[in-house]
Amino acid sequence: MTLENKNFFSNYPSAKYSWLKSGGKISHLYKIYNLFDLKKLFSDNHIKEKSLLVIGNLSNTLIKDKGFRGTGIKLSGDFSNVQINNDHMLVGAAVLDNYFSKLCYKKGISGYEFLYTIPGSIGGNIFMNAGCYNQEIKDKLISVIYYDVNENNVYEKKINELQFHYRKGFQKSNTIILYGKFKITSGDQKNIKKLMQEYEAIRNQTQPKKANCCGSIFKNPINKSAWKLIKSSIDESFYEGPIKLSKLHSNFFENDPNISANSIDLFISKIQDRVKEKHQILLERELRIVD
Ligand SMILES: Cc1cc2nc3c(=O)[nH]c(=O)nc-3n(C[C@H](O)[C@H](O)[C@H](O)COP(=O)(O)OP(=O)(O)OC[C@H]3O[C@@H](n4cnc5c(N)ncnc54)[C@H](O)[C@@H]3O)c2cc1C
Repeated sequence: MTLENKNFFSNYPSAKYSWLKSGGKISHLYKIYNLFDLKKLFSDNHIKEKSLLVIGNLSNTLIKDKGFRGTGIKLSGDFSNVQINNDHMLVGAAVLDNYFSKLCYKKGISGYEFLYTIPGSIGGNIFMNAGCYNQEIKDKLISVIYYDVNENNVYEKKINELQFHYRKGFQKSNTIILYGKFKITSGDQKNIKKLMQEYEAIRNQTQPKKANCCGSIFKNPINKSAWKLIKSSIDESFYEGPIKLSKLHSNFFENDPNISANSIDLFISKIQDRVKEKHQILLERELRIVD
């Protein structure tokens, strides 16, 4: 059983929507508005057996040039809502960080100021355990509600039952994060706003603005800064050309739009090689590359 045409996109151009403005096509993308549609889609064994790719706001994903030929999922509709209850917030995976952060400000809820400056979605945050300014999404979560494709069922796991690490959150294979249940702490609106503005100002000073980029390319190794390792390993040529490292932050690159995703991947590998050669450290990619 397939979904109606409004839900299906053939050859979805990831480059058009990704923050890198680069990336191959997703051959079959299903936009899912509610749980009923999700269950209906995966009741089809043909769809269920293909490999799965869930996309959020594509701020940390690069699909290689040949594209992705499995089942692509993008959540919307019911999964774009925020429900504020007495003791928790139920936040859909498709909700964008900036929107959620601003909503918390309006409601006088503190602790979500850091999300104001991250360009992802709640689903992407929970998958990546996104964070900045010494805060991570795991610190704010009560539980994760997810759909298990194999079992065609929804489950909830408390945060203390899950293993979240630095930039590695809920990554259970063949699952789709549907909602996060988040803590509520009241705060003073003036202080919340001040913090949001401070975080934004730091970003603007230290990272490229309005560039096609993916945020940090590599994770920081324990007790080391990836940008310092990179800066001390490369020559000036890495700061020039259609894909170049940012002079503001050497763990960021900027690229011309519609540049080949494979050439970005190659550029990243070259940096990795240089750092390995100079420091004997293999940097781990933070950017998710889909083969
Ligand atoms: C300018 C810029 C600044 C950034 N700064 C930061 C920062 O300070 N801190 C930080 O941590 N990150 C940062 N990032 C990276 C990125 O914004 C985060 O990793 C964010 O959490 C990704 O969210 P997304 O919705 O864009 O995910 P996507 O890029 O769409 O997906 C990322 C991964 O999550 C998976 N995924 C997404 N949604 C779901 C779901 N519902 N269920 C299952 N899997 C899912 C995808 O399959 C993919 O593997 C930055 C990126 C940019 C472009």
